[in-house]
Amino acid sequence: MEFISTRGGAAASAGSAILQGMAKDGGLFVPSSFPIITKEQMDEMLDWDYPRRAAFILKRFLSDYTEEELSEYCAAAYSKFDGDPAPVLKMDEATFLMELFHGPTLAFKDIALTLLPYLIRGARKKAGSDHKTLILVATSGDTGKAALEGFKDVEGTEIIVFYPSEGVSDMQKLQMQTSEGSNVHVVGIEGNFDDAQTAVKSIFKDPEAIRRLDKMGYAFSSANSINWGRLCPQIVYYFSAYLDLVAAGETLLGEPVNFVVPTGNFGNILAGYYARRMGLPIAKLIVASNRNNVLTDFFTTGNYDVNRAFHKTMSPSMDILISSNLERLLFEIGGRDPEYVKSAMRDLEVYGSYTLDFDRMQAEIPEFVAYCSSEEETADAIDNFFDMFDYTLDPHTAVAVSAYYNYLTDTEDETETVILATASPFKFSSDVLRSLTRKEEKDPFRAAKKLASYTMEEIPEQIAALESLPVRHKLVIPKGVIKETVFDLLSSDKG
Ligand SMILES: *Cc1c(COP(=O)(O)O)cnc(C)c1O
Repeated sequence: MEFISTRGGAAASAGSAILQGMAKDGGLFVPSSFPIITKEQMDEMLDWDYPRRAAFILKRFLSDYTEEELSEYCAAAYSKFDGDPAPVLKMDEATFLMELFHGPTLAFKDIALTLLPYLIRGARKKAGSDHKTLILVATSGDTGKAALEGFKDVEGTEIIVFYPSEGVSDMQKLQMQTSEGSNVHVVGIEGNFDDAQTAVKSIFKDPEAIRRLDKMGYAFSSANSINWGRLCPQIVYYFSAYLDLVAAGETLLGEPVNFVVPTGNFGNILAGYYARRMGLPIAKLIVASNRNNVLTDFFTTGNYDVNRAFHKTMSPSMDILISSNLERLLFEIGGRDPEYVKSAMRDLEVYGSYTLDFDRMQAEIPEFVAYCSSEEETADAIDNFFDMFDYTLDPHTAVAVSAYYNYLTDTEDETETVILATASPFKFSSDVLRSLTRKEEKDPFRAAKKLASYTMEEIPEQIAALESLPVRHKLVIPKGVIKETVFDLLSSDKG
């Protein structure tokens, strides 16, 4: 399979698209077509385990890797999870939760970022590349740690993570600052996620930076969801959840279900859209946003407008105004016409907004609906869900739950629905504790202990261990010097 750019530039093989991270024309790589998984194939996959389902689906897209390679990568990546990487829990007759946070860093980003290092290593080998791969990451909190964990001490790679210094939870920050590995760098910026992402994306497009790095023996790639190697593994769990529901007799093969997805950079839910294009029976994809509700407005009006206040919320991994992956959806809305995408992206750059023909959107992507949740609604969702189901939601998942109940109030839809649970509540102990008990505990470790005793759950090992790990990465920089910092870090490495 070939990968084409949303802005019309040169096509690439899967391995090359993954190594490049994003296309040279500033666009994002998308598959040239969507392979179909038939009902017969799904039937056959019912009793397969997660790694086997993953290798099968990945192979449809990543045709330049062999089946053996992909099976080996998936087995290795998913052995790092505590049991099934994507278990589905039944809450009531129509409501299911898919837990995606049983990986090394306790967030759904692990599903792709445990696998991506294998895909990059494989692609480097195929390309016979003698350059080191420099992974540049902008993170809103969870991608950073998951990428650091995935790439630490991976031969031939160097990783630099930029996170908003005051825009992540205490636990998220500590997870990153305590990272080990001889090839890792972690840098706080005085700015928000959008600042970090915009700077990183502009380095990718900067010919002078590319030349300088080339001379130093490096080539860029990305561990953000702009990289196809991040998106592709996320398609798998939509299939897997559906197959689990069918296997458990909860739904009949071919009957559609809904998915509710807490959304920031639009990578997770886009993978669901791709699964639907591949034949997975999905009725609605419900886009859940927090107070930063640019996407809610977009899906209800066709107008995307970032000229608005940026809010810090208790779901920081969704505190995003510029959702990169929406570009890939625009490409589909516009009938895969690069000019359609380029014109919207030009408007976004110049005016901070663009408007699509709403009738066209309704015709092309009728499966999308969008809801947002205020901080108060999110806290109430955590509290009510615990009362109803004795289940502790993290704030991101709570945004999705709240969105789902608003959707039900509007539609009375009885379709079976899977809500994606994207992080462990213990990554956000203080906020979750306050939502449940209305009591304030600022110290993250004391909050985790109180949360554990209130919910009668155990603090995950990775969180408990943070308390005694030394902080290794303290650098914080102004947002204007991100590019210079990349070069400083690399050259001081040499010395
Ligand atoms: C990254 C993240 C999200 C948002 O996912 P996108 O792919 O950016 O839309 C939601 N919840 C958690 C916990 C996350 O880490």
